[in-house]
Amino acid sequence: MHLDDFHRIEMRTDRATGLRAIFALHDLTLGPALGGIRRWAYPDDNEALADVVRLARGMTAKNALADLPFGGGKSVVMAPGSARPGHRCGPPSRAITVPELHKLGEWIDDLGGDYVAAEDVGMRVSDLVTAGTRTAHVTGIGRAGLGGDPGPRTALGVFTGIRVVAERLGFPNLAGLRVAVQGLGSVGMALCKRLHDAGARLAVADIDAAKVARAKERFGATAIPVAGAMLADVDVVAPCALGGAVTVEVAQEMPARAIAGSANNQIACPQAADTLRRRGILYAPDYIINAGGVISAGLEYLGRDGFDERVCGIGRRLERIFDEAQATGQSEAKVAENMTQRVLASATERREAHHAPAALASVA
Ligand code: NAD
Repeated sequence: MHLDDFHRIEMRTDRATGLRAIFALHDLTLGPALGGIRRWAYPDDNEALADVVRLARGMTAKNALADLPFGGGKSVVMAPGSARPGHRCGPPSRAITVPELHKLGEWIDDLGGDYVAAEDVGMRVSDLVTAGTRTAHVTGIGRAGLGGDPGPRTALGVFTGIRVVAERLGFPNLAGLRVAVQGLGSVGMALCKRLHDAGARLAVADIDAAKVARAKERFGATAIPVAGAMLADVDVVAPCALGGAVTVEVAQEMPARAIAGSANNQIACPQAADTLRRRGILYAPDYIINAGGVISAGLEYLGRDGFDERVCGIGRRLERIFDEAQATGQSEAKVAENMTQRVLASATERREAHHAPAALASVA
């Protein structure tokens, strides 16, 4: 595993509580590393490390393109439990305890503000509040009436992105647009509400039958099989469950004309992105369209308002990416990757110019 691009990676163990965690601070060019804490049952430490490294790199890109003064980082808590059949990891077998949360808060504090923690899978807002009694470097807890639960905020960002996508597909508004939502959790359900209110026709899938029943009742949604959600006969598919939903096979066969959802790491491999491009299927890069939550958490940490204006930026960024992809023939995923590199390179240049000796700076 190549880790040379990381600012700092730390594995911590606490004998008293049995708590184990890895903190991965990827790139601090733009500011302290902002990213969630994922609490999950991993088969071994290598799997946990691979997960946190992948997620931390993703946060660098997400924060850079959301125009936030934060670098990328993430942490994972290795929880007890075992993977579901066919999965490499799974949900914890018990809830996190208060002493564990206090220790987690102390570890975050030890990083001296280089890492700012928010929620991710397996952590609740109330867990962050408890950890936050030991450190000021947690966010997404509704401090000073700002931010709070990022799920509905992420949903608003995805909704904003779907509007842009719909226009590109020739829908002047969302009335009649057919959208399949895969995963009806905190983001998926809130997204369904917004889409339904805007007149879209919904097809939904979740492994939890009660959530599907609720979406049918509240939004008149049609239920579709979990296994075939990505292949639903709709205009737009919104993956809002787990990553890796867009495989080469899915990209080759899906009837939908666009993919726009909240799940992280939707594209299973670069070939899948190329296949989408070849078939003319529009892809809204996940870390751009799902940035609503991190924008909210970042502003909360900075004590700033202005979420509504910032979330509109998601739509503008997608427009730029779709235009550039069309002009260059590259996949949207590749265009977003190049854009991230440009943002980081220009921040590095600015910083170096700022630190250059006065004489040199004046010549430049
Ligand atoms: P969540 O845990 O609240 O919901 C996930 C839902 O997906 C659950 O209802 C679960 O039953 C369902 N699900 C799991 N496997 C499924 C499958 N194979 N098919 C269909 N449904 C399945 O999570 P969330 O907070 O709503 O986040 C959804 C996705 O968006 C995740 O990938 C998350 O990493 C990403 N994301 C979330 C946020 C946020 O603010 N919550 C921000 C950025 C990205």
